[in-house]
Amino acid sequence: MIMQIGFNEATTMKRSDLSTDLRLTDQVGFEGIEIRIDQLQRYLESHRVEDLKHDFASRRIRPWTFNALESATFRGAEGHRQLLADCRSVCEVGQVIGCDTIIVVPSNDVGDRTLAEIQRETARVLRELGAIAENYGMRLAFEFIGYPNCSVNTFAQAYDIVQAVDAANIGLTVDCFHFHAMNSRLQDLQMADARHIFMVHLDDCEPYPPGYLRDHHRLFPGLGVIDLAGILTTLQAIGYDGPCSVETFRPEYWDADVKETIQRAKDTAEALMARVLGGADGGKR
Ligand code: ZN
Repeated sequence: MIMQIGFNEATTMKRSDLSTDLRLTDQVGFEGIEIRIDQLQRYLESHRVEDLKHDFASRRIRPWTFNALESATFRGAEGHRQLLADCRSVCEVGQVIGCDTIIVVPSNDVGDRTLAEIQRETARVLRELGAIAENYGMRLAFEFIGYPNCSVNTFAQAYDIVQAVDAANIGLTVDCFHFHAMNSRLQDLQMADARHIFMVHLDDCEPYPPGYLRDHHRLFPGLGVIDLAGILTTLQAIGYDGPCSVETFRPEYWDADVKETIQRAKDTAEALMARVLGGADGGKR
């Protein structure tokens, strides 16, 4: 199995920008980058989409995803129209720069909605976004959020939704932090079809209880308490051979030197992969 290692711009988002992240992640040898949509918007204030295309063309690193269409479900009519418009404009950029995946995130605090209501609404939105994405040859990677107040907060719940949607261009993002933070179960991951998983977010976290953990408790992979060996070997066992990208939201990392942070992200991810899978390429040498 080949697991490629990439970088998610969330890790440096407070002091960096897309041009800097792109240059430095390419320099340290990451294979892919996940572009934050807010960083893309800032970039486009002073650049054209073509500039980004040329920047990628001169580098080895590939654009993996746009991260993310957020709070995608249970919107009012106007909010929903905006979501569809946002999806189209991201697809247009994706087509130009050769990035074929958009991460979609469910809404928090949706009130007294049953699991069935949430499944229906989330599937409805994913189908509608998926139809737009399909016109551009693009895919959606739905990411559950391991917070108690998020409408979709476990792997099993997200997997059921994606199965119900049953579209080739709609799959999941499995973020190790979110997996850990609401006690998603390895046996559910074990039962999954790897074709439904489009992206893995690699990270770790401090030893706080499920339900209390928040994004700022994230650590670089291997430095915390998440059972990353369990998650990664299970992914490997079910045949996942897609991208794996380091994503933290840690203020301490944001405050550090951007280049150092990017280098540490690479070093910790590689060390972890080597430890649990026998190398960045999963031991398949
Ligand atoms: Zn994530």
